Amino acid sequence: MFDKILIANRGEIAARVITTARRMGLKTVAVHSDADAEAVHVRLADEAVRIGPAPVGESYLRAEAIIEAARATGAQAIHPGYGFLSENPDFVEAVEAAGLIFVGPPAGAIRAMGLKDAAKKRMEEAGVPVVPGYHGEGQDTAMLAAEAERIGYPVLIKARAGGGGKGMRLVERAEDFADALEGARAEGKASFGDPAVLVEKYVTAPRHVEIQVFADSHGNVVHLFERDCSLQRRHQKVIEEAPAPGMPEHVRAAMGQAAVEAARAIGYVGAGTVEFIADGSEGLREDGFWFMEMNTRLQVEHPVTEAITGLDLVEWQIRVARGETLPLSQDQLTIDGHAFEARLYAEDAERGFLPATGRLERLRFPDASNFELGALRVDAGVVEGDAITPHYDPMIAKVIAHGATREEAMARLLGALEATQVGGTVTNLGFLAALLRHEGFASGEVDTGLIGRDLDALTARPPMPDHVPVLAALAAAGLDHPPAGDDPWDALRGFRHWGASEIHVTLEREGETLDVALLRDGPGSWHREGTETSVSRDTKGLEVTVAGRRFRAEAAKHGAAVTVWDAGRAWVFTLPDPLAAADAAGAGGNAIAAPMPGLVKRMRATAGQTVEKGQPLAILEAMKMEHTLTAPRDGVVAEILAQEGSQVSDGDLLLTLEPEDE
Ligand code: ADP
Ligand code: ADP
Ligand code: MG
Repeated sequence: MFDKILIANRGEIAARVITTARRMGLKTVAVHSDADAEAVHVRLADEAVRIGPAPVGESYLRAEAIIEAARATGAQAIHPGYGFLSENPDFVEAVEAAGLIFVGPPAGAIRAMGLKDAAKKRMEEAGVPVVPGYHGEGQDTAMLAAEAERIGYPVLIKARAGGGGKGMRLVERAEDFADALEGARAEGKASFGDPAVLVEKYVTAPRHVEIQVFADSHGNVVHLFERDCSLQRRHQKVIEEAPAPGMPEHVRAAMGQAAVEAARAIGYVGAGTVEFIADGSEGLREDGFWFMEMNTRLQVEHPVTEAITGLDLVEWQIRVARGETLPLSQDQLTIDGHAFEARLYAEDAERGFLPATGRLERLRFPDASNFELGALRVDAGVVEGDAITPHYDPMIAKVIAHGATREEAMARLLGALEATQVGGTVTNLGFLAALLRHEGFASGEVDTGLIGRDLDALTARPPMPDHVPVLAALAAAGLDHPPAGDDPWDALRGFRHWGASEIHVTLEREGETLDVALLRDGPGSWHREGTETSVSRDTKGLEVTVAGRRFRAEAAKHGAAVTVWDAGRAWVFTLPDPLAAADAAGAGGNAIAAPMPGLVKRMRATAGQTVEKGQPLAILEAMKMEHTLTAPRDGVVAEILAQEGSQVSDGDLLLTLEPEDE
């Protein structure tokens, strides 16, 4: 038994494990690098221990530092999450040698599955179907080429130590074999320190179907059905679902049985995933799936299994680690409905999926549960204001939707993604939404080549809707939200006092300059000159009207950037410079903008107040210093746009003055 657990991970999975551990009444200890001192997982845990600087080699991969943190805090168990040390048998042995409990399988089971070639041999012996191929020790180039001939093209070369889709090469013709082999070896060596490869038959119309297994230390093994992870880009999972579309009950039973046998053969304990490659060319068949590898840990996509079984897999992991028997037997497990998970990444899908970084100036999800079961669930390791850094995986969140049917779950996920707003970095949101609208995917015709075949269409950018620059201009001018103030009448007064009848804003986007002229139609209401596009703001936000059609969208300004969120897409503009932005808003010095990011310590001005040049209007605290902002001229305060205590970015408007009489 244990009552205090250390989580040797970061991000969403650390936060997710902590949530369950707390619910079970356990005390929790987080570990963190310098970059994560204020991270979500640190704030969620009862205690936190610094284990080193930002690079993973100096922090999250430091086994001794983590074991020392457990000792120092009195934690009796360690949960490794996924990635990092989760599949490192030496770590498991070190944890156990320190008298601690590892929440995961025994070191021997991890070793048995650690190298793909040895694992395949072992599985063949256990009677589990394995992809035909060469899994031997020999690494001679001519011999491997001869094996490829024997297996028959197309073949797949895989680094035997590979993972995360790295170190793999598809070879279609014998003349390409030598080059591909060299590439796989080099990647295996660079990423995993091991150039050895295996060669196997490339399954055509392949589907990735994996089985969640669970074993306790009393010899009980069950499976929690399958997940279909066929939607992949470069062998990396993008959207996962459960159950697999078109899965006949007898094939499910056969795959489940094979997975349970695989786990039994290596004395498995805890949560694991047996990945199969299935031939999807004529539907899923009992003789059409083969063992690919086993992941001896909790999987990124485990929430879809939780959604359809109603179970908490982390709770099961902890109960098994405590020595309990599995809470349910195979015949007590059932599937309820359908679930999808989408992995939201900071990456530029439209430009070759380049990983992106940046501060999350905005991160808003529709109403969802966090880390817990629900129709909509969001597992995120970051909150608004946090940064995506180059040190770690650029995953922002996993969005999980459950529904009574596949269609319902899919529609729910699409709706959730369309309502998600991220600012400050580019994301793959548009790409994920495009996938959910893909006809083949919608009808369940999934295979691992789907994304690659339709990549251009899936990453194509739709033309910018005409109302987007209008919203951007409004936000640039600080007119996207009602004036701040406790008194609702302030807001009304603000509308009335806003005198400018015309605003000119210059926006830049991808090297192009866009001039937007807005004409004021009434309080808080504007239209773009020469168009039928108008925008009005109320206390709920912005409402767009385009030729009689009305809908909501949002825009915000962060420093010198403006982002518009419109139907699941984020459109980013930059302002030529913050001063110009302030000018644009106030048509010549009517606006007072924050000169740097900081905290509004005092707001001395009130709407309607008459002020003199040089009079202090607001105090901004930045970098531990106070800066007094004064009136640039005599005049009347029109709107207060930032409240006392609010955090502002540089260039954000704090207040505006009534335009001077001509
Ligand atoms: P899954 O992604 O479902 O966990 P994989 O076998 O694809 O399974 O991933 C293998 C391991 O590689 C996982 O532990 C995962 O955390 C890690 N991984 C996957 N993608 C990345 C990435 N982009 N950067 C770092 N680690 C990754
Ligand atoms: P990793 O450890 O990198 O996750 P896997 O062996 O699990 O490596 O393979 C990753 C992905 O590559 C699979 O999900 C599948 O899409 C594809 N793949 C693997 N083996 C085959 C195969 N024999 N035929 C077709 N596709 C395959
Ligand atoms: Mg895999």
